[in-house]
Amino acid sequence: MSQRKEVYLVIGGSGFVGRHIVEHLLARGDIVCVFDIVQRHHDVDFYSGDITDESQLLDVLGKTGTTCIIHTASPPHGAKDPSIYYKVNVDGCKAVIAAAQAAGVTKLVYTSSAGVVFDGGDVINLDERAPFPEKPFDAYNDSKAQGEKLILEANGKGGLLTVALRPAGIFGEGDRQMMVGLYQAYQRGQTHFQVGDNNNLFDYTYVGNLAKAHLIAADKLSSPSLPTSSQETLTTDSLKAE
Ligand code: NAD
Repeated sequence: MSQRKEVYLVIGGSGFVGRHIVEHLLARGDIVCVFDIVQRHHDVDFYSGDITDESQLLDVLGKTGTTCIIHTASPPHGAKDPSIYYKVNVDGCKAVIAAAQAAGVTKLVYTSSAGVVFDGGDVINLDERAPFPEKPFDAYNDSKAQGEKLILEANGKGGLLTVALRPAGIFGEGDRQMMVGLYQAYQRGQTHFQVGDNNNLFDYTYVGNLAKAHLIAADKLSSPSLPTSSQETLTTDSLKAE
């Protein structure tokens, strides 16, 4: 029996992570479209739109016949007005879920953040079972946590399977945040300071591996062995990229 060919819509596909996901999908011969408020790349079908507008999403999902959404969009960390985070990451996720269910999309992969469990203190050996902190670290991380919760709660509802990934720091080709920040610190002469006792650790992930993890997560969503009940997530073991 021939299987239906997946059609991917990468929301935020003009961004750093989204762009790598698009390239990985193209490299394996998949059908890919991008939905974003800005257009930075021109080698795939591009749809200009804002995820907070459900009707724009519905229109694009219908036009493209999308079967799998990979949702990477978010305002970058450090915005002056925190309300933008709640608008895009919380209201935006609600609109993405509603549009996906209405359009018959079967899979939704969400780029969350390791910051959803960060409260400013040490984070040691936490896994997916850890609760969100009672006092969120900041509006960005709080909005990412709320968005992630909505996405996972939508799992198995309205014909939609969902999963969320939580990267920490991301590095690699096309980064416009981390290296810029490091370079600005260098320009300010802030090269001689130490945080704590110099033994602090932080997770960094290569963007290419993260892109692969998104593809593996999407593929795993159609695996018959996958749990479909709400709140169950893929473990990091099942997502190991080669
Ligand atoms: P990015 O800023 O490079 O890309 C985000 C994209 O989303 C941009 O192209 C932007 O135009 C688009 N976008 C923003 N608001 C939108 C809206 N309302 N409608 C449609 N598109 C919109 O960011 P990135 O570094 O690629 O991050 C991707 C995801 O990974 C984000 O969800 C972010 O929270 C998460 N994340 C990033 C890092 C990191 O270190 N970069 C770490 C952890 C998690």
